[in-house]
Amino acid sequence: MRLFWSIVAAVVLAGIVLAGCANTLTSRLTLPDRYCVVREQLVLHGDFPLAAHHRLFEELVARRGDVCRRLDLPVSDEPIDVYLFETPDRFEAFMRLHHPEFPQRRAFFVKTDTQLKAYAQWGDRVAEDLRHEVTHCYLHAVVPNLPLWLDEGLAEYFEVARGRHGLNRDHLEHLARRLQSGNWKPDVARLEALDPTVDMIQEDYAESWAWVHFLLETGGEHRKLLCDYLGQLRREGSAQPLSLRLAGAVNRPADALAAHIRHLAATKLDSFTTASGNQVP
Ligand SMILES: [Zn+2]
Repeated sequence: MRLFWSIVAAVVLAGIVLAGCANTLTSRLTLPDRYCVVREQLVLHGDFPLAAHHRLFEELVARRGDVCRRLDLPVSDEPIDVYLFETPDRFEAFMRLHHPEFPQRRAFFVKTDTQLKAYAQWGDRVAEDLRHEVTHCYLHAVVPNLPLWLDEGLAEYFEVARGRHGLNRDHLEHLARRLQSGNWKPDVARLEALDPTVDMIQEDYAESWAWVHFLLETGGEHRKLLCDYLGQLRREGSAQPLSLRLAGAVNRPADALAAHIRHLAATKLDSFTTASGNQVP
């Protein structure tokens, strides 16, 4: 079962000038910045050579178009700094010094008054991690005051490799099991009421993903409902909660979501495995 280390960390770090630490700290404790590649909105930094046209970077660049087209959002040109740590040790040493208050994880997103940044460690899960964190950056570049649950639900949807329509296997399996055992009742208002200063747990990530998948993958009217909400949030800085919009537009939203998950579990889970049981790359 995957761990949900990627969280939104909307933290104001005024007064901390990370780049200015280079003269006083060892290289292990500074941001990786020996090599730099600029790809449209993304400024990728690392202490190891970065291939400008690496397949992952191409995908991250393309993901901006995916996010904006799917959500009817404009494209921003605000720079997004992505710092890539070559090893977990390097990443963890940096984290312990600069963000000791954050839980252990492989990657994270930081928004300040002036910057959007993603930090990640290079490894087996870097593609998924970067798709997740960079999605946060693309969203926050154009939408203010995004509710935590929706921010995470969208990041969980867009962290899935392209071509899979946001179908997150781990979440689907988790929710299908809970439905089968009768211990899950979808409740988007509960997600909206979550304390933004408290880390979400796996159940919250999974349900957030499920609502986003339902809205984006079950017809134009549902997608429009989400797009209208994001559009109002972008224009006005606040919007009527999605739970109220759902209640007005969807007959029994909780039952509709449960039916959607059951249908996905019955029709899509097999597509993740080959005949030998290995996950399809
Ligand atoms: Zn996240």
